[in-house]
Amino acid sequence: MTGALRNDSVRAILLDIEGTTTPLEFVYKTLFPYARSHVRQFLGKHLSSSEVRADIAGLRKEHMLDTRQGRNPPLFSQDTPEQELESVVSYFEWLMERDRKCMPLKSLQGKIWEEGYQSGELLGQVFDDVPRALERWQEQKKNTYIFSSGSVLAQKLLFAHTTAGDLTRHISQYFDTTTGSKTDKQSYQKIANVLHRLPSEVVFVSDVTIELDAAKSAGMQTLLCVRPGNPQPVSTHLLIRTLDEVFP
Ligand SMILES: [Mg+2]
Repeated sequence: MTGALRNDSVRAILLDIEGTTTPLEFVYKTLFPYARSHVRQFLGKHLSSSEVRADIAGLRKEHMLDTRQGRNPPLFSQDTPEQELESVVSYFEWLMERDRKCMPLKSLQGKIWEEGYQSGELLGQVFDDVPRALERWQEQKKNTYIFSSGSVLAQKLLFAHTTAGDLTRHISQYFDTTTGSKTDKQSYQKIANVLHRLPSEVVFVSDVTIELDAAKSAGMQTLLCVRPGNPQPVSTHLLIRTLDEVFP
């Protein structure tokens, strides 16, 4: 935890969401319960939409993998639309209990949240220091990006409908796990490539040490964000408690 960011070399700030910009509690006590309690109603309305069909096809594949690997997921029947709906609901809940980060689950969750944000039932939460940090970095001509396991749609919705208003004007681009796992070095190399930056010009801020380890091994600079409600990690990464500390 000694040393400092090589400030002058940083051109881009890559932010995690859960536990970094947003309280873990919002994700686990608001977003996840909302998805669980609305999934049946959502599928009832949209079961035949092509985007939802794509998510269901993805879930079916994931289910086959779970079955093959002996994890005993709930039965999945597509014999009738009713059976299919119930199967998707059961498997969706089963995956959520395990906090699985697979893309078809995240994609479907994002679509369910979209209705909640649009109706005003959901409002994205960010820590108080987030809006002013985003604004400050923009004035400093540093670009801000997001890398989160939530789908890009879910990320955009959260920042478009926060309790502090629409923050999307401060965010240049969003990455989800279609880029790769957050614990995989290659994901960070890919992101740097997409941004046309050297990894060393990017600082990744997260509350999870193994994600930071992956970013660091790709050559990025790293900051461990320790927020109230986060588990207290043991780490060699530079530590911050608020984004006010990052390029003040
Ligand atoms: Mg996190």
